[in-house]
Amino acid sequence: DSPAPAPSAVPDARPCPGTPAVLGAGVPVPLAAGGTVDYANFDYAASAPCLEAVRDALDEALPLYASVHRGAGHLSQVSTAAYERARRTVAEYTGVGAGDALVFVRGTTDALNLLARCVPDGCTVVVFAAEHHANLLPWEHRGSRAGRVVRLPLPETPGEAVRAAREALRAAPEGPRLLCVTAASNVTGEIWPVRELAEAAHAEGARIAVDAAQYVPHRRFDLKATGADYVAYSGHKLYAPFGAGVLAGRSDWLRAAAPYLAGGGATGNVTEHDVRWNDLPARHEAGSPNVLGAVALAAACTTLREAGQERLHAREEALLRRLRAGLAAIPRVHDLSLWDGRHPRVGIVSFVVDGVPAGLLAAALSAEHGIGVRDGLFCAHPLTRHLLPEGHEQAVRASLGLGTTEEHVDRLVAAVARLAEHGP
Ligand code: PLP
Repeated sequence: DSPAPAPSAVPDARPCPGTPAVLGAGVPVPLAAGGTVDYANFDYAASAPCLEAVRDALDEALPLYASVHRGAGHLSQVSTAAYERARRTVAEYTGVGAGDALVFVRGTTDALNLLARCVPDGCTVVVFAAEHHANLLPWEHRGSRAGRVVRLPLPETPGEAVRAAREALRAAPEGPRLLCVTAASNVTGEIWPVRELAEAAHAEGARIAVDAAQYVPHRRFDLKATGADYVAYSGHKLYAPFGAGVLAGRSDWLRAAAPYLAGGGATGNVTEHDVRWNDLPARHEAGSPNVLGAVALAAACTTLREAGQERLHAREEALLRRLRAGLAAIPRVHDLSLWDGRHPRVGIVSFVVDGVPAGLLAAALSAEHGIGVRDGLFCAHPLTRHLLPEGHEQAVRASLGLGTTEEHVDRLVAAVARLAEHGP
């Protein structure tokens, strides 16, 4: 496993300079024994706190916002410009090409359900059992238009994933085929070989859609650079508020499909007998759009880009190594990995402690140490159940983000060690 970092005598309690500031960092939380402690948030993978820069962008936009696209008034024009500027910023951040579209949606679940509605009739969809339910279930939920869904077993190595995907796509009947994979697992943080999978899919004449919900908060996802055909992600995991997300990718299927929602904004003309639907992206954005959500998401993309995601990534790697080395040194703690423990991963670690149910462990970490983790099966039941050692029904997940400090990591490791030894 990765070598343990030398722990400093007095851990640094602040994120390093130049790290974009998040809201709510250091908020005091009550302890069961009385008193308070600064909150140690290890639940970034569920929803990341908002960036200060995002709050500032919203402060600017809020006094000016009005209905977009159809209003003649000045503020409608300002808001329309802000919404479309946000689309360009997010599209650029995501490496959206000239022939592609970027549709603003509510989040990753929404994006993948939209894409599932857009795949052509009879399309074979190939998906691994490792997926979050948002990328596992929409394909099986396509009703009478459904093509076949091939659910592949958990691959033992990344290379096995590429081979299995290629074989399944090759074996699929003639016609459209789509491979759907995650860029980074929400359970183990392990990074999937998206570029190789894209090459394999294309070599078989298929397309690939990528669930980048857990990847984008840690590394930039570029459609062009990876060769992926579609990408989906959520603003609330990328340091923006809830309610805005992205589906981006090739236009043809999206354009040919019926609008995701029927209603105003998606329509060009409606008569007694006929409806003419708009072209992309409005076609799939019926109803008054989430202008502030789009502005916030664009501000998050710009802030992360300007801060230099490689530098932020190096900092997170060091914290992740520290956490994993600390947990590995505690008897009866098991870190869950699908592949070799050294395979690259984003800042997510799921683990169990023999003899301590995950729910009790998570509750004690919160009540006694002011540490917020998640426990359960993380909306990826087949994968998490497969990874759990004998005798465990759930796991604890600790996920890192921009507000995580060495002090947080050391507090978590010390608390797990104590609870592993003495119980909750
Ligand atoms: N995909 C992955 C890998 C996730 O981790 C999540 C959320 O945890 C989702 C999809 C769903 O995202 P949302 O709830 O924002 O739709």
